[in-house]
Amino acid sequence: MKYQSTRDKKVSVNSASAIVKGISLDKGLFVPCSIPTINEYFINKLVQKSYNERAKEVLSLYLTDFSKEQIATCVDNAYTDEKFESSNITEISHLYDGTYMLELWKGPTCAFKDMALQILPHLLTTSMAITNTNDEVTILVATSGDTGKAALEGFKDIPNIKIIVFYPENGVSPMQKRQMQTQKGDNVYVCAIKGNFDDAQTGVKNIFADDKLASELKSKNKVFSSANSINWGRLLPQIVYYISSYCDLIKNEEIAYGDVINVVVPTGNFGNILAAYYAKKMGLPIGKLICASNKNNVLTDFINTGVYSRNREFYPTLSPSMDILISSNLERLLFDLTNQDDELVATWFNKLNEAGEYEVNDSVKALLKENFYASYCDDVQTSATIKSVFDRYSYLCDTHTAVAVNVYEQYVKETSDNKKVIIASTASPYKFVSSVLSALEAREVSGMDEYQSIGELFRISGLDVPESIAELENLPVLHSDIIENTQMKDYIKDIIL
Ligand SMILES: *Cc1c(COP(=O)(O)O)cnc(C)c1O
Repeated sequence: MKYQSTRDKKVSVNSASAIVKGISLDKGLFVPCSIPTINEYFINKLVQKSYNERAKEVLSLYLTDFSKEQIATCVDNAYTDEKFESSNITEISHLYDGTYMLELWKGPTCAFKDMALQILPHLLTTSMAITNTNDEVTILVATSGDTGKAALEGFKDIPNIKIIVFYPENGVSPMQKRQMQTQKGDNVYVCAIKGNFDDAQTGVKNIFADDKLASELKSKNKVFSSANSINWGRLLPQIVYYISSYCDLIKNEEIAYGDVINVVVPTGNFGNILAAYYAKKMGLPIGKLICASNKNNVLTDFINTGVYSRNREFYPTLSPSMDILISSNLERLLFDLTNQDDELVATWFNKLNEAGEYEVNDSVKALLKENFYASYCDDVQTSATIKSVFDRYSYLCDTHTAVAVNVYEQYVKETSDNKKVIIASTASPYKFVSSVLSALEAREVSGMDEYQSIGELFRISGLDVPESIAELENLPVLHSDIIENTQMKDYIKDIIL
């Protein structure tokens, strides 16, 4: 199978080179030329299999230039008992009848990004071997929290790859900072930047755009790469868990093959929900894709009106991993909804770049309405949802998952659509412990440090504390560099040259 660019269909590469390149030269994203289909036979075959076996079957539909052995090695190195707290890799938990929480946070950093970032390094090194790329790769990441830690865990000790993560000194939660400062691995570098997330991100972008530095590196057989969610190798692994969870529901006799289910996803960069869209497009019986946003509701407005505008205020919220005004992966959806109209997609995204806004045509508007429902909730509603879900169902959600539950309840109220539903649960509540604890107690909890809060949340909920969070208090700090954002380039050069 070949991959093309969303902004130029003439580009044609195999999957390994799409993964090595990350983004097309025309700034478009790589997408498969056609989406493979699955049927009842395929699903039934997977029902009795393990997560890893299911992953291998799904990935091999897309990575046709990888051998079976290569795919198996990638999957089995990524999803191990050692790294995931569940031998099923993901877990399905009942909220109430017909409503299932798909828990995607059993990995080493307790957030759903592990599902992709645990396997991406293996897909990348295998893709480099397939394309005969012998350069030493340095992954650069600017993070406001979750991505940095998940990327560090995924790339640590991977041969021929170094990873450097920059975070804003005062712009991540104490727990997130601790997670990064205690990171182990011989090829990992973590550095705080004086400034905010934008300063860190702009610094990284400038380094990526520095041609002089790039050629200096190239002469030494070194290249930069990124781990962000536009890489096809990060999106593809997310398709697997939607197919796998459908198989689990069949296996547990909650549904029979063919039963249509809805899917709810707390959304930021549109990666997770796009994976669900691809699963639907492949033939998985999914009805509505319910797109849940926080107060940064650019996607709610887009799906409901067809106008995408990032000319709006940015709000920091209790669900920081969804605080985003530009959802990059939307480009892949629009390419598909326009029947692969690369010119139209390029026009829209150039407008976004220049004017901060674009409006799609009527046929795309209709398709958006047909496939998606979108709404949002603010922080007060998010906290109230955490409390009411815990009071009613004894289920503890993190702040991102609570946004999804809130929006799902709005959907049912509005439409009375009571189909069975999978709600993506994207982080352990312990990861956002102060917000979750304050929500449960319906007041700002103060005077407790993070570890005391964890103890208190455990006492109230009885939910086991993930090992990787419990051990943080006693891990030594290994990374304590702090630099000005103007020093980023020298910092990087010191490491790799
Ligand atoms: C990244 C993230 C999201 C948003 O996912 P997208 O794929 O960017 O839409 C939601 N919840 C959590 C906990 C996350 O870390």
